[in-house]
Amino acid sequence: MKNDRYIMALDEGTTSARAVIFDREPSIVGSGQQEFSQIYPRPGWVEHDPEEVWAAQLTAIKNALKSARIGPEKVAAIGVTNQRETIILWDKTTGKPVYNAVVWQCRRTAELVDELKRNYWDTFKSKTGLIPDSYFSGPKVKWLLENVPGLRERALKGEILFGTVDTFIIWRLTGGRVHAIDYSNASRTLLFNIHKLCWDQELLEILGVPESMLPEPKPSSQVYGYTEPKLLGASIPISGDIGDQQAALFGQAAFKEGMAKCTYGTGSFLLVNIGDTPRETGKLLTTVAWCMGGKVTYALEGSIFISGAAIQWLKDSLGLIRDLSEIEVLASSVRGSEGVFFVPALVGLGAPYWDQYARGLIIGLTRGAGRAHIARAVLESIAYLTRDVIEAVREAGVEISELRVDGGASKNNLLMQIQADILGLRIVRPRILETTSLGAAYMAGLAVGYWSSLSEISSMWRAERIFEPTMGSCERNRMYMVWKEAVKRSLSWAKVLKEAGLE
Ligand code: ADP
Repeated sequence: MKNDRYIMALDEGTTSARAVIFDREPSIVGSGQQEFSQIYPRPGWVEHDPEEVWAAQLTAIKNALKSARIGPEKVAAIGVTNQRETIILWDKTTGKPVYNAVVWQCRRTAELVDELKRNYWDTFKSKTGLIPDSYFSGPKVKWLLENVPGLRERALKGEILFGTVDTFIIWRLTGGRVHAIDYSNASRTLLFNIHKLCWDQELLEILGVPESMLPEPKPSSQVYGYTEPKLLGASIPISGDIGDQQAALFGQAAFKEGMAKCTYGTGSFLLVNIGDTPRETGKLLTTVAWCMGGKVTYALEGSIFISGAAIQWLKDSLGLIRDLSEIEVLASSVRGSEGVFFVPALVGLGAPYWDQYARGLIIGLTRGAGRAHIARAVLESIAYLTRDVIEAVREAGVEISELRVDGGASKNNLLMQIQADILGLRIVRPRILETTSLGAAYMAGLAVGYWSSLSEISSMWRAERIFEPTMGSCERNRMYMVWKEAVKRSLSWAKVLKEAGLE
């Protein structure tokens, strides 16, 4: 392989599509990003226009090539990563989507899922590693088949294809030749058996999904197909596909059992490598991390719905800060939150509580409490939720010795120090924070021999900064106990409102 070639990662996120070009080192040599619209047809419903997503992805690719000053023939391979769980259904012949993409955040399937929870909780948990929730793909497919006129009949005739967004992008990039999904994305659908690595007949029946719609599940790192030459001006191998959080775990070089990463974005996603055997826990999700070289790696995942978004809320809804970085200055102006606790249950609580009726609260206010205490309590709440997940990981018998971090809010040094203190663990921030794109690039590059091995990748991983815990264990545990009390008070709050006729 020549030295002047590059790997391109396509990162199709919830609000924008990105393309990032890496060299072998790996350093970022160019990138492009294009936002697309968020469509909210009703309260709690979230959609994207698949044509707009596709156009945004193409624009991002073109801008990335331009910023790297290279032509498409210099791209040795493409790796795809994406917002997980979001679904698109399209016509097999015309390639036209039959409905908008139904996004992972969309709660339109809440009632349908309540029924699945009552009747099939154990079936879904044991086969898919997931908790039945509107978050995942399968119920969204069922909803579309039941609510779009004539769609079920067309699907039964084999005219309709299903995909998560990675599947749709790969299908379009290959000119409709490849209809595939990798195991990590498939493992977020509630249709995929993570032990047997195939679509599960019983689950397809429960959700009424015809098998003919489904893409072929494949390992994450292998050649899926080649880009249609007239699209990008070259026929480039697409040789990686992986869900965004799993990609970040890989991009953090967390290849050994017990290695963990936490991505602090809108929400926080903590994933721990648990090796080649899935492990069931009541409070966390078990998911396929990746599959390469015939070997599957699994992860435990704690999905926290609100973390960085709480800081945005402080800025946009409370007007407590004018820009996001101001929180660090404000929260540093006091030595502690002095008894003020914040629970960011703004959309209910995810792992490990899974309470969609929890609501946010600020507690412990006195006349001495001010903006800075609230700001600090918000940062602390992000760290406490991470500790909740780590405690659940420990209960599952997995020990963690350090936490690698990334995502927009990981830039906040005070938050990272608080995190180290509240966990009593070393926090390590890498040189390249674009771990999601990097993970997808590694998947693609390893498949075509651009990089040779996991040990080569491990040796290239570099820390930018390490945060060591400085708080004593007594204080840490006392504060954590109070946090648990605050959470208790936030649980089921929406039910109280409902009973009083206020929600
Ligand atoms: P996503 O991919 O979910 O959109 P990003 O990784 O881009 O998320 O991170 C965005 C989040 O990071 C926002 O919710 C924002 O509040 C948070 N954020 C950005 N800068 C800071 C900062 N300096 N301190 C704390 N949080 C920040």
